Amino acid sequence: MRSVEEALDAILAGARQTGTETLPLDRCAGRVPASFVVAATGDVPPFDNSSMDGFALRAADAPGNLRLIGEVAAGSATPPRVEPRSAVRIMTGAPMPPGADAVVPIEDAREEDDAVEVPAVERGAYVRAAGHDTRSGEEVELPAEPLGPAGIAVLASLGIGSLEVRRRPRVAILSTGDELMDPGADLAPGQIHDANGPSLAAAAGEAGGEAVVLPRVGDDADGIEEQVRAAVQVADLLVVSGGVSVGRHDHVRDVIERLGRLELWRIRVQPGKPLAFGAVDGLPVLGLPGNPVSALVTFELFARPLIRRMLGLRGSGRATLPVVAAERMAKDPDRRAYLRVVVAQAEGGLEARSAGGQASSQLRPLAAANALLVVSEGEPAAEAGRTYDALLLGGIR
Ligand code: AMP
Ligand code: MG
Repeated sequence: MRSVEEALDAILAGARQTGTETLPLDRCAGRVPASFVVAATGDVPPFDNSSMDGFALRAADAPGNLRLIGEVAAGSATPPRVEPRSAVRIMTGAPMPPGADAVVPIEDAREEDDAVEVPAVERGAYVRAAGHDTRSGEEVELPAEPLGPAGIAVLASLGIGSLEVRRRPRVAILSTGDELMDPGADLAPGQIHDANGPSLAAAAGEAGGEAVVLPRVGDDADGIEEQVRAAVQVADLLVVSGGVSVGRHDHVRDVIERLGRLELWRIRVQPGKPLAFGAVDGLPVLGLPGNPVSALVTFELFARPLIRRMLGLRGSGRATLPVVAAERMAKDPDRRAYLRVVVAQAEGGLEARSAGGQASSQLRPLAAANALLVVSEGEPAAEAGRTYDALLLGGIR
């Protein structure tokens, strides 16, 4: 059985980046730029302009009573020239009139008839110089992460209206199990609703992928094989859930071995020990355990970094923080545990409490958790008062 790190290394080893597509900027939120460096083809802002509503003037003329000779608003192409002992009324964002080198805000000036009384002011006051955000020719480096609103704003301000982004990896999702029914369907005795299809599709989207949900199959090797072959045609990654263990009806591993190559099986992780990874005709295939908590946690640990790697990103994109366990939480001593916890601000700092039952079939504690508490192999529990890493899945409450 391999450790989480060994398994992750093996899973990431053969990852291939997806190709690119060019999209209008307003469709690039959450997308990964094909290149994280863009060249500025002009200054931002393109011209010296006022950062305040006020009066543009020559600093050398202040303090004093200056003749008001005109007005310039944002968008104006031809601001009037400021001559000695004169001023021009100016709006935020309006280009600095030629001759002016400072702005006195409206609040600091007193306007009367065709004149304005201004206090002393330094040259350059309230003037945003051309290029003070970005200079023409500068290489603008974007963070190597999906584009957020601020990154979109930077690109827009640079005048970039469309962008080459990496194609979202197509993640085929296949639920397997004779007992599974669609959410919304009535259950016959012995049946349950398929939680993993919807949850893994959501997780794939959250990781930056595009989920392709395949028709669910029973515990039937031929049916699984058929869907694996279909995935080879359409997907960059196949995530199968269920049927990966050692039961008589667990066929996923056999199918991977028969059609392709099985790279690894079983990991010293809790939840999620039975996990298979392999490749079929160049398609990476991850077989996740069927228990819904195991499926989502192992997706988080292995599929998410793989999807990000396909996007040209590093790591999981999650933060890990040291937090103090506020209570004892038992675990399997032979495996590294990812306990479902709520991390909250306490008097002594960040504190983690169990989000509920830690069985891998108990979904609600996972939904309630904002972090996974990482407790090493060899330890029988998270002990109250000790510090552990928490892998943050959401905001701290
Ligand atoms: P398996 O990995 O097939 O042995 O399944 C382990 C447990 O997870 C069993 O109790 C299954 O009924 C359950 N399970 C498997 N697949 C799903 C699914 N898609 N949604 C909800 N529960 C599942
Ligand atoms: Mg099963």
